[in-house]
Amino acid sequence: MIKVFKFGGASVKDADGVKNLAKIIALNQADQVLIIVSAMGKMTNALEKLTEAYVKQEDTVHELFDEIKKYHEQILSNLFNDSKHPVFDEVANTFIEIDWILEDEAHTDYDFNYDQIVSIAELVSSRIIAAYLNHLGLNTQWIDARGFIHTDNTYREGKLDWDKTCRSIQRLPEQLQNSFVITQGFIGGTSENFTTTLGREGSDFTAAIFASCLKAGSVTIWKDVPGVLNSDPKLFNDAQKYEELPYSEALEMAYYGATVIHPKTIKPLQNAGIPLYVKPFLFPEENGTRIDQYARLNKNIPAIIVKKDQILVSISSINFSCISEENLSKIFKGLANAHIKLNMMQVSALSFSVCFDWDKLKFEKLSGSLQNEFKLKYNTGLELMTIRHYKREQLVGLIANKTILLEQFSRNMAQFVLK
Ligand code: ASP
Repeated sequence: MIKVFKFGGASVKDADGVKNLAKIIALNQADQVLIIVSAMGKMTNALEKLTEAYVKQEDTVHELFDEIKKYHEQILSNLFNDSKHPVFDEVANTFIEIDWILEDEAHTDYDFNYDQIVSIAELVSSRIIAAYLNHLGLNTQWIDARGFIHTDNTYREGKLDWDKTCRSIQRLPEQLQNSFVITQGFIGGTSENFTTTLGREGSDFTAAIFASCLKAGSVTIWKDVPGVLNSDPKLFNDAQKYEELPYSEALEMAYYGATVIHPKTIKPLQNAGIPLYVKPFLFPEENGTRIDQYARLNKNIPAIIVKKDQILVSISSINFSCISEENLSKIFKGLANAHIKLNMMQVSALSFSVCFDWDKLKFEKLSGSLQNEFKLKYNTGLELMTIRHYKREQLVGLIANKTILLEQFSRNMAQFVLK
């Protein structure tokens, strides 16, 4: 049975991380393993900054790019004593792709520029890791995900052509019999051979796509936490780990912002009945959390999910008329065109309120498209707290000292937009 392993940025943020990854792979030599890797450390953020500087033609462009190169060079020199190892050239050549882009004028489509530049981090990280595994004698083949993950040209949010993608991926089992195979998370390719990305944190989704098309035996996401926790240990010191979770619960948690798994990951695995493990990369022998159709939900552990950096927008008609279905359909059209994903919404007689992740460009797009007919009032810097399987008495402590701007309750879930 094929195993799909996904390593995120935190697990490969430095040379020690790459060495640890190699130890995990070495423990699985008896298996066919497909390895999906993200960008190293915070390199996606760094490349996002570079893209912005390039598009705005700022002076910092070369400085930012040099820092990115240096970060990777440092990792390379800590992994390879011999500076003549071919990986140094491979990485340099990958960076040249950015040099070419930076020399040219930016494309008018920001998202297109973004994908061509930001995707480089995954290409470089997978090159380095593949070379290191081979250097240790762990026979590993590097493949370019852009030839397997086929998307349309919705840059930054590539929509997958599942049939074409699965047809490409189904060529892999033979390769997997002879070696480990490593590829990049997060990136895909269009039919015109341009690079797309699947949305931030999209590498988990890549793992699910490969697993589902390969009918893999399992997917493991290697994390810096012991498994799926009921809350963020940085915010709550009594965070508890789930031993097991049904797909549906994991999906709800991810949807409302539990960052441990990307929400798009679960459905393809659920459809194919492939178990998902979330395990700590520092303690690979531990069980972590198992997510599958046999898991039982422990309702005694409420999930508390906090999503920061939210915007709450209250939309009302410019002529003070009540919110009608016709109004709503225009608002939803505006939201869809701006690619906004709603975290919470509420309708009253005179206004429609929506809460979503703050994104300046998306918000401007929305307000631009609605301004002729609607008035928008908004608050930024807010927090969305979602509590699944709550007990009334727990809520008071959770929202103490905060102002509630919006709240909603269902039998299983309480949600608050807080200031
Ligand atoms: N490197 C990308 C990001 O940071 C994708 C991922 O890590 O999943 O969003």
